[in-house]
Amino acid sequence: MSEPFLIAQPLLHWFWANHRVLPFRSDPTPYHVWVSEIMLQQTRVAAAVPYYERFVQELPDIPALAACEEERLLKLWEGLGYYSRVRNLQKAARIVCEQYGGQLPGDLAALKKLPGIGDYTAGAIASIGFGIPAPAVDGNVLRVFARLYNDEGDIMQPAVKAATTQKVMAQQPAEAPGDFNQALMELGALVCTPGQPDCAACPLQALCLGRQSGNPARLPQKAPKKARKKCELTLCLAQDAAGRWLLQKRGEQGVLAGLWQPPVLAEEALDEKKALAAAQKLLPAAVLLKEKPLKAKHIFTHLEWHMTAYVMTAPCTPPPEGCVWASPAQLEQEYTLPGAFKTLRKRML
Ligand code: SF4
Repeated sequence: MSEPFLIAQPLLHWFWANHRVLPFRSDPTPYHVWVSEIMLQQTRVAAAVPYYERFVQELPDIPALAACEEERLLKLWEGLGYYSRVRNLQKAARIVCEQYGGQLPGDLAALKKLPGIGDYTAGAIASIGFGIPAPAVDGNVLRVFARLYNDEGDIMQPAVKAATTQKVMAQQPAEAPGDFNQALMELGALVCTPGQPDCAACPLQALCLGRQSGNPARLPQKAPKKARKKCELTLCLAQDAAGRWLLQKRGEQGVLAGLWQPPVLAEEALDEKKALAAAQKLLPAAVLLKEKPLKAKHIFTHLEWHMTAYVMTAPCTPPPEGCVWASPAQLEQEYTLPGAFKTLRKRML
């Protein structure tokens, strides 16, 4: 395993014959690689593809992304979650327009300085978009290498990740760095999967020390995740006499910063009476509908929301500060309600 490029040849041949046909692979410009990699950070490939196609059709290049209105940009991202990703995309696009004439720089260090672009994404853009030798070590690659080398190290540890990165670079052929990186990721996604790897279908089976050990599935090792914090929320779905729903803008910091939500009445579970009293501070004439409160749960990486939403009606009045009244059509086309509220959104539409 220490000889250079031992895995490259069988891996690349397997990749060229077996890889999935994906829209961002058919025209892998640096911009396309960038957008797709940011989307794929927290989203499965199949779910990301339609978002990717719509995004690059509407914003075909970096100047278009830099100039896009914020509400439109968030709408294009609606359903993907983790909205700081798209905000950072736009921040970086603006810097690229100011400093690099609207084209991403073909330089690993310069890419890493842009907002939202870490080691992995910079390596993917450099190697796939520009053909520059660079590592792109994601969870798939860490898993494949832990098994290939039968490495018991905790892949969450920076030292283990750094050692894996070195091994990747020792194997990466200078003439095909992008395909090599993609091949490793594809192998991890299709064959050397998190559960039971399909070693019989693996182009590296003859070399793999994990397979020789008899139980590659026990790898990689990683420390257990910390338990998520649970948070109760009480919200109101308030509709006015014109059929519009009250939306409230979230604060500029923290989870779902700056996005719209049905007004949050309290960060605890309130009963009907207390919820109505809290809602009347926003809408003094609000009336509770005789409808069971909606229950919903949303899981973030480190946090769980348990939501209770009461449905209310109110006369037509100007919206309270920080809120807007939104018609169902505006909810569909204009305002972005994060996926955390999808159960509540369904009731509103
Ligand atoms: Fe993974 Fe099995 Fe291939 Fe080893 S032989 S890299 S464990 S799929």
